[in-house]
Amino acid sequence: MKRISAAMAALFLLLGVSPAQQAESKPAPKVTYIKVGRLFDGTGDAVREKMVIVVEGERIKFVGPAADTPIPSGAAVLDLSRATVLPGLIDCHTHLGARADRYDPIYDFKDTPFQSAFAGVLNARTTLEAGFTTVRDVGSAPFLAVDLRNSINEGFVPGPRIVASGPGISITGGHGDLNNYSPQTRVSMFPEQRDYGIADGVDQVRHTVRAQMKYGVDVIKILASGGVLSKGDSPGAAQYTVEELKAAADEAHMAGRKIAAHAHGTQGIKNAIVAGIDSVDHASLIDDEGIRMAKEHGTYLVMDIYNDDYILGKARDFKIPEEFIEKEKAIGRLQRENFAKAFAAGAKMAFGSDAGVYPHGDNAKQFFYMVKYGMTPAQALRAATSDAAELLGRSQDVGSIAPGKYADIIAVGADPLTNIREMENVLFVMKGGVVYKDAITKGK
Ligand SMILES: [Zn+2]
Repeated sequence: MKRISAAMAALFLLLGVSPAQQAESKPAPKVTYIKVGRLFDGTGDAVREKMVIVVEGERIKFVGPAADTPIPSGAAVLDLSRATVLPGLIDCHTHLGARADRYDPIYDFKDTPFQSAFAGVLNARTTLEAGFTTVRDVGSAPFLAVDLRNSINEGFVPGPRIVASGPGISITGGHGDLNNYSPQTRVSMFPEQRDYGIADGVDQVRHTVRAQMKYGVDVIKILASGGVLSKGDSPGAAQYTVEELKAAADEAHMAGRKIAAHAHGTQGIKNAIVAGIDSVDHASLIDDEGIRMAKEHGTYLVMDIYNDDYILGKARDFKIPEEFIEKEKAIGRLQRENFAKAFAAGAKMAFGSDAGVYPHGDNAKQFFYMVKYGMTPAQALRAATSDAAELLGRSQDVGSIAPGKYADIIAVGADPLTNIREMENVLFVMKGGVVYKDAITKGK
């Protein structure tokens, strides 16, 4: 309750209105009618033609056939009747603070966290304009993703909705540690918390998860195997015991958060599944038993099967260490084949691309590989809409075009169900009822 000052009361008296009437006279939320040529709503396989979406404020109010939906004269109209309209896309594995032109290890020592914050502001906008209206950011300096999320939610900078993690939690010497330099070397800004990322043993893992939540993360990311883009560790090797992973999962779940595990190696994947982790990301060397276990536990697989092209291609121009290239060569092709196997076997899949390893904004290039390795275009699109929303626990808000959901709406020129590469050229982006990109009605 706000107390009304005497001066305010006098003003209301002067204007002849009561405070209650003042509240009522607030302008009604803006209503926009979107004429849709073809609608893929994020659920099912069907495309409906000649539809109308009514947006009120930041949410969708109504979706129906154009024939039965009269548009009042004078209403605000967006004419997307020549386009295919889809829900805003979701990428469940991004690093908005990362740049794909900084592979020289010297940047481990030159960059302050502010460098990656600048990158984050730019990358957030690029990502949104590519049609990705929601991302799960899984690993950045403490607590860049949280700050960026808050700045975007305030409307201070444009960007997607962010489901923010802290730094990926790592064992000493693991994928999240700075390895193979002298023991005198440190770049940590927050040594008292081991940068909120390095944790050994059940107690430290619990503490680190709790500390991250204290500073506002939505989701926990833990590193359950070695990685490709880190020195001195093997992607195939498990990192953390099942007990440590389970402690992290239990802490996250107790606080109503989800938890994602980075795992390339066969055993690390299984450890994460057994520990009750919600998604296994990368999952490169998953075997038949791991696929069975993922199905049994309902664990999502988030397999980033595009970025191999970039790591083995353009990244060489940016001094990517030979060690990283060798590791990627060893697992890149296997990851794609295992994606095909896991999907054919019926494992749950959500779209995640590891944006930041390759340039932000190219996220949709992964759709081509998802289709090449066994998905129909509709299945690939659902992985990046309704299925991804389910993994994030945000189905009530995002991932489909239906009444009550946020008006996160994108459009492409031609039908992506016949040519999935259309997704690489998103022409229209609305997030929360606000248009951020419009090369359709403004492009004429
Ligand atoms: Zn990653």
